[in-house]
Amino acid sequence: MNNRTAEPPKNFIRQIIDQDLADGKNDGKVLTRFPPEPNGYLHIGHAKSICLNFGIARDYRGLCNLRFDDTNPDKESQEYIDAIQKDIRWLGFEWSTLCFASDYFEQLYQYAVQLIESGKAFVCSLDSEEIRRQRGTLTEPGQDSPYRNRTVKENLDLFQRMRSGEFQEGEHVLRARIDMASANINMRDPVLYRIKHTAHPRTQNAWCIYPMYDYTHCLSDALEAITHSLCTLEFEDHRPLYDWVLDTLQTPNHPQQIEFARLALDYTITSKRKLGLLVQEGHVDGWDDPRMPTLSGMRRRGIPPEAIRDFCDRIGITKKDALIEMSVLENCIRETLDPCASRIMCVLKPLKVVIENYPEDQEEMLEVGNHPKDPDMGRRSVPFSRTLYIESDDFLEDPPGKFFRLAPGREVRLRYAYNITCMDVIKNEAGEVTELHCRYDPESGGAAGRKKKVKGVIHWVSARHAVDAEVRLYDRLFNIPDPGSSPELAASLNPDSLEILQDCKIEPAAQALALEDRVQFERQGYFCLDREHTQKEHPVFNRIVTLRDSWQKLEKKT
Ligand code: ATP
Ligand code: MG
Repeated sequence: MNNRTAEPPKNFIRQIIDQDLADGKNDGKVLTRFPPEPNGYLHIGHAKSICLNFGIARDYRGLCNLRFDDTNPDKESQEYIDAIQKDIRWLGFEWSTLCFASDYFEQLYQYAVQLIESGKAFVCSLDSEEIRRQRGTLTEPGQDSPYRNRTVKENLDLFQRMRSGEFQEGEHVLRARIDMASANINMRDPVLYRIKHTAHPRTQNAWCIYPMYDYTHCLSDALEAITHSLCTLEFEDHRPLYDWVLDTLQTPNHPQQIEFARLALDYTITSKRKLGLLVQEGHVDGWDDPRMPTLSGMRRRGIPPEAIRDFCDRIGITKKDALIEMSVLENCIRETLDPCASRIMCVLKPLKVVIENYPEDQEEMLEVGNHPKDPDMGRRSVPFSRTLYIESDDFLEDPPGKFFRLAPGREVRLRYAYNITCMDVIKNEAGEVTELHCRYDPESGGAAGRKKKVKGVIHWVSARHAVDAEVRLYDRLFNIPDPGSSPELAASLNPDSLEILQDCKIEPAAQALALEDRVQFERQGYFCLDREHTQKEHPVFNRIVTLRDSWQKLEKKT
């Protein structure tokens, strides 16, 4: 588990725990759990819950379990079980005990038998449509099922036969016997078990009845002696049922359910199901597409896990839903990367520059620091020669007033090197600029040269020494702030969320980069190697984040 020195902010859940400890509750123990359903990959919303649950365990010297809520075999798989574990560890946390709700299937069954024996559950033979119709509405009470008064004996017999596979799916369900007139619809005889003739990733064909979430979750918490069961706000209305099950069964432990607001981030979605649709429909390159808000996507993009933890700390834990701006996450990423990312020069859209007065057979190795503020990050040699590449955007033939970069007759500084003046512009038949002929000032090298005031400083790469690379620039996946609420998910995808530049030129230091290195391409942003494309001769880089928040400026313009 990651160590930290700063005192974490005291959110309302930590205040409740402090009070519980002061009151001597739970024998002074704190035990939380993170309970994902293995029906997809974890996303940034889950990171909030992970940081909360594991963070509390860490700070209170408690424990946090990882529990797979694997009660719906139709949608769950081993692939997801494995991916979820990998992502939690990557985020920097380790669980105390790895648990599966399916490990409790026999105990849950025995508890259900107890409910039947005490007249608190019955086998209902209405189909799901009828059950829904008879449930009533927010303003009208529901109707009692005609099967509600089956005898205990009959219920036990039917439930046993449900388990042994005598019935088809939908023929019977087991329901709690609570109150069809309750103001809380969740308390109107909720379904506890349904028949499903589906093999389970772990129990295979041992079971053909599966417990429902509301019944499973509270009992799993109780069986693991969880003290504080933290979940998102939509479960507030389920809390009476959570408590009913545990009170009725008089379980030895009765965890306290506490709800907090889900994380919603603008311009993206936080729902496994919807993210899964993007994958299935081929809108993205898998769950780990670098544009995805999944932990695996963010890992591939190069986002450091520290930045995600910092983000979760900063947004805090509250009871009020809010849409958080993506720029908050991006700022956390920049702040994490700035002190530790080496600087390197990369030309994304190259324009050739020939320095007429620099001898053809000459080259220099310029010694430069890897980080402007941190000499401990070392130095490297950057080769300089007669033919260079600069960024096409750094040259304009007919520049507007405030353009301080290269233009005909203008002088500009090549970072770490010399000042050059543009003498001649070479064009192709189509009239496009293909090459610039410049002259350099041999006196402008090094510290002495820097004294001479030139307004623009641009980056460059020596042509002869350059590493050819592909660079992928990512933008927001959606072009509306709240795509989750849109019925047509695909229609709100940002068509420009991926730009592939295939002809980029990087200084030779790029060859020494390892997969986990994150660097700043000067003036361009933070980048890392893509894990899926590892050939040395033609590396592929992902842009993690730009240097500044250009999106808001853009939005204001349009
Ligand atoms: P999804 O709709 O993406 O499947 P879920 O809530 O159904 O989300 P689970 O796998 O059941 O996903 O979630 C595991 C835990 O993560 C739960 O405790 C859940 O409340 C929490 N969680 C999921 N999404 C968010 C979110 N956006 N913000 C905070 N916590 C979340
Ligand atoms: Mg879910």
